[in-house]
Amino acid sequence: MTYRTRFAPSPTGPLHLGHAFSALTGFDRAQAAGGQFLLRMDDIDRDRSKPAYAAQAMDDLRWLGLTWPEPVLFQSASAPAVQAAVERLAALGLTYPCSCTRSDIAAAAGAPQEGAPLHGPDGIVYPGTCRGRPMAHFREGDALRLDMARAAAQGALPSFEETGPLHAGIHRLDAAALIQTVGDVVIARKGGGIAYHISVVVDDHGQGITEVVRGADLFDTTPIHVLLFHLLGWPVPAYHHHRLIRDEAGKRLAKRDDARAIATYRAEGRTPADIRAMVGL
Ligand code: GLU
Repeated sequence: MTYRTRFAPSPTGPLHLGHAFSALTGFDRAQAAGGQFLLRMDDIDRDRSKPAYAAQAMDDLRWLGLTWPEPVLFQSASAPAVQAAVERLAALGLTYPCSCTRSDIAAAAGAPQEGAPLHGPDGIVYPGTCRGRPMAHFREGDALRLDMARAAAQGALPSFEETGPLHAGIHRLDAAALIQTVGDVVIARKGGGIAYHISVVVDDHGQGITEVVRGADLFDTTPIHVLLFHLLGWPVPAYHHHRLIRDEAGKRLAKRDDARAIATYRAEGRTPADIRAMVGL
């Protein structure tokens, strides 16, 4: 199978050195394998995504020397495919409608008899207030959640290959860990919004991605994605989680770190080779 990876930034701010490292790592791995590098715009956050950020990101990445096939997929265009995947999970009896607000969840998880609330990749592990509500009771404004205990009981759980330096090896999904430390993740957002985990899996499958290259901060979400591939009957890609680029204080760079924006370095007259050197490539 031909190697294919993607870089999928969210166009919610200027790209910084951490994005440059991620994109260059994916591009270099695709080159080395004689495969393909795709760019995808993860624009599912309707309030924060801006076309101007997407345009600036493409300009910065071209300046860095990256190329990719056109047209670039904007994830918002995948809404029908995501909806179809959600309906398949619902048909398997793995989803339920949930009307809880963030504060409902914090209050239920923080009740004294519950002990300290457990935090998973999506924040507080959902305490299960709406679990078991039938899909027929879905009301306008509800989210849909995956019933993790049921999902983790759908056949033998798969494993995935991690090729990154930090967790290299084969990782088998563990039902107890999924139930306890991840819980019932949101699979469709309130008001019809696209949820991250399912959209990433639908697009990685649709684009034929063979290796997902991304930051180590997303390693804990990978079992969710691998489980979704398994439930949908799709082949599981390999994963490569790379180290994170940090500032002098050791903090991971964020979109608001304008000082480290690629555009800032460009304006200062730095070269693409300077950027590669700064991120240790
Ligand atoms: N859009 C996500 C981000 O910028 C990355 C998605 C992914 O690689 O799965 O953090």
